[in-house]
Amino acid sequence: MINMETVGMSMFLAGQWVKRHEVIDVRNPQDHSLITTVPSATEEDMLYAIDQAKAGFKIASKMPVHERIAILNKAADYIEARLEDYATIIAKEGSKTIREARKEAGRCVQTLRISAEEARRITGETISFDQSPGSENRQGYYYRFPIGVIGAITPFNDPLNLVAHKVGPAIASGNAIIVKPATVTPLSALKLAEAFDAAGLPPSILSVVTGHGSAIGDTLVTHPSVRMISFTGGLEAGLSISRKAGLKKLSMELGANSPVIVLKDANVNEAVEANVSGAFWAAGQNCLGVQRIYIEKEIYEEFSNRFVTKTMNYRVGDKLAEDTDMGPLISEKEAIRIETWVKEALSAGAKLRCGGKRDGAYYEPTVLTDVPDDCTIANEEIFGPVVLLYPVSSLDEAIEKANEKNFGLQAGIFTNNLQHAFQASQELDVGGVMINDSSDYRIDGMPFGGVKASGLGREGIQFAIHEMTDPKVVCFKLNKM
Ligand code: NAP
Repeated sequence: MINMETVGMSMFLAGQWVKRHEVIDVRNPQDHSLITTVPSATEEDMLYAIDQAKAGFKIASKMPVHERIAILNKAADYIEARLEDYATIIAKEGSKTIREARKEAGRCVQTLRISAEEARRITGETISFDQSPGSENRQGYYYRFPIGVIGAITPFNDPLNLVAHKVGPAIASGNAIIVKPATVTPLSALKLAEAFDAAGLPPSILSVVTGHGSAIGDTLVTHPSVRMISFTGGLEAGLSISRKAGLKKLSMELGANSPVIVLKDANVNEAVEANVSGAFWAAGQNCLGVQRIYIEKEIYEEFSNRFVTKTMNYRVGDKLAEDTDMGPLISEKEAIRIETWVKEALSAGAKLRCGGKRDGAYYEPTVLTDVPDDCTIANEEIFGPVVLLYPVSSLDEAIEKANEKNFGLQAGIFTNNLQHAFQASQELDVGGVMINDSSDYRIDGMPFGGVKASGLGREGIQFAIHEMTDPKVVCFKLNKM
């Protein structure tokens, strides 16, 4: 059962569950029904959270590592014991199906447990000062220290685990953190705060401040006491935040329109299975989602036919039903945007192989071919259940086409040729190349992030910890050696 006593109606302000007169409706995108409300935080609320976080940082940075480990593990235990509640919240407020939501809740437990493990591995190293003449009498080392107050701004599509990817490493490394979750999906982030509250995290180390980015975002982003903005979201918001942030660290996990290459020696069945799932997971609202598939022409017909058949068998419907494969978009507005982009491509000469119909916030899984290069859908991030198929004559052509877009998060290649796999891994301009899998593969402990418009910096717990800490050099000048 969803516990609305703490989650919903209140936000988590420096260890306190507080209500506000002004509220934001949280609605189920499937039927627009009201789930609950959350406070619409003001600038004063955000300033209070920042002030408290400054005090929280002093506590967090001095907290022994064994205590951080215990709290992270207790929060993980709390979620694990209530996995179905967490999954239900994700599925209700967002657009994932219950099966997808269970996977996310399970991964969140992993993210917190890995954070607990990484807390003990935040190390430095000794420095050979005597490499420089005149420094023979110096001895020393560097260690990594937490940077202070971190502002985390998160998107709607993984409303629990992507928040955990910021909160887990921040607590593991002795920082304080303020989360501003997506306005449409604040409940999962509040449920994460509930787990840390239950785990005994000292108040003021964590706040989850609910409110519109347009109302409270600037206060968080521009405040000089906030030493880092860890943002996951779209390119437009990411650019706006990076322009305003000033002198602070930035971690930018942005969007993509990920390519996958399927060569003629690939296992076509495996390629179809992985790419259909990769394209339509979370109704395509997935930063790693497969958007462009480049298929060697010898297998183009076979691959496309099988891909379309499998797509047409996808069951779209009620998110909470066990047999549903795909739910709605996060809003009708988003579904209308996708409909418009598909119509633009079709009127420019693209061919519709299946899908293409909208019903409220639902948009059918859709496969397009022959999409002209200058269409919006061929260049921008679709962030919806639409995939484009292209025939190519060679691996070189596929790599060139894969690289010609502005984004570069992850890519996939299906081949049994070692040389080709290696060439793709070297030449694809992305943060990760999956061999014999789609772009949509990630574990929580691997470095994760993009190049070009897909972002700056890396997440994946130890890598996020690296971004959230700085090296401090300690050098002893000795009289005699
Ligand atoms: P979004 O519209 O960019 O919003 C993300 C977050 O930023 C929300 O909390 C939003 O608040 C806030 N925000 C928006 N404008 C802001 C501003 N000017 N100042 C401060 N905060 C601001 O993204 P979304 O639609 O939620 O998520 C989809 C995007 O996230 C896609 O592009 C997807 O690829 C990307 N994403 C990337 C990764 C990755 O790891 N690379 C993972 C998941 C998603 P409001 O909700 O109040 O507007």
